[in-house]
Amino acid sequence: MSNKNPATPVKVQPRPVLDLLPKYAAGKPPTAVAGLTSYKMSSNENPLPPVPAVMDAIREGVDYNRYPDPLATKLRESLAGYLDVPAEDIVTGAGSLGALTQILQTFAGQNDDDVADEVIYAWRSFEAYPIVVQTTGADAVEIPNLPDGRHDLDAMAAAVNAQTSVVLLCTPNNPTGPALTTVEVEKFINSVPANVLIVIDEAYNEFVRLEDAVDGIKMFRKYPNVVVLRTFSKAHSLANLRVGYSISHPSITQYLRVIATPFAVSSLAEKAAVASIENIDQVVERVQHLVDERTRVVEGLRAIGWEVPDAQGNFIWLNFGADTPDFARIADEQALSVRAFGNEGLRVSIGEEEANTRFLEVCSNYPKRPAVS
Ligand SMILES: *Cc1c(COP(=O)(O)O)cnc(C)c1O
Repeated sequence: MSNKNPATPVKVQPRPVLDLLPKYAAGKPPTAVAGLTSYKMSSNENPLPPVPAVMDAIREGVDYNRYPDPLATKLRESLAGYLDVPAEDIVTGAGSLGALTQILQTFAGQNDDDVADEVIYAWRSFEAYPIVVQTTGADAVEIPNLPDGRHDLDAMAAAVNAQTSVVLLCTPNNPTGPALTTVEVEKFINSVPANVLIVIDEAYNEFVRLEDAVDGIKMFRKYPNVVVLRTFSKAHSLANLRVGYSISHPSITQYLRVIATPFAVSSLAEKAAVASIENIDQVVERVQHLVDERTRVVEGLRAIGWEVPDAQGNFIWLNFGADTPDFARIADEQALSVRAFGNEGLRVSIGEEEANTRFLEVCSNYPKRPAVS
């Protein structure tokens, strides 16, 4: 089409699906309040810096003028040793979000006959899911969580049909907190056709203390249609360096490697991640500190009569309904930024000790309490 008439300029047009996509709302920074240290509890970040060996590795630097190893070989070999899986089964990405994008672009979309694949996931869950899923052209099928914030796996299994190409399981579920158990995940996998890809997103795996929690890697070993997602963003304190990965069988990785963005993981990120794995004992120690803080927060809330869903990540969920914006404002007045989801509820990341203590104070002074699940 030419653009002869300046009164009706022809404009560039995005794909129609763009109108459907929710905006990714990143956690807000806290408001500065005189006399108070501000704390960001809105993005599930690790409040601690990476372990010292990682900082040394970063300071040492890399050949910044050279492209990174496209296969992140050193990192995959280091992970292979640590996780006891073949290095070939690991595909890296720019964060596990990068790895998830590869998976969805490979296995979900609009087909030649114009029929869209369906991708099933629990809702509410990770905010990026609807965006990444719908960008592929696939239809998002959101299955409401149970009142206690757990996935409704029976309803998710019942939603599977001939169009279903991928199911996303988020354990522990961001933002509600509970983790899935081995028994329920195996029952789910066995009830779904073997041509449906099951993605187990374990971004917070290191924080889980539930005894019978599912271990995605065990599911991967047992079932050829399972992909596990992990990240260095949370437990390893490397959110800014963007490094994550998936683990799956060669029948899956052969395609992921075709679609993966070349050079997605920088050499600096790779080097940092390797150093973090090499010092995993220190990482585990820091994670334990955050888990202890999580326990302190949950017990503090229960002590004032508040009910919160089982918290297995580095965050807790407050089912505040219509009071959500009000509570977020009150927290902000105390220089704490928390993550409010409309009129549904709030997710509060476990932060520095002082942040957690102040959060508990804000809660004890708040006249209402979150809805009982
Ligand atoms: C934070 C998070 C991720 C990962 O993010 P990256 O920084 O891209 O690794 C993935 N899934 C869930 C559920 C998360 O909360």
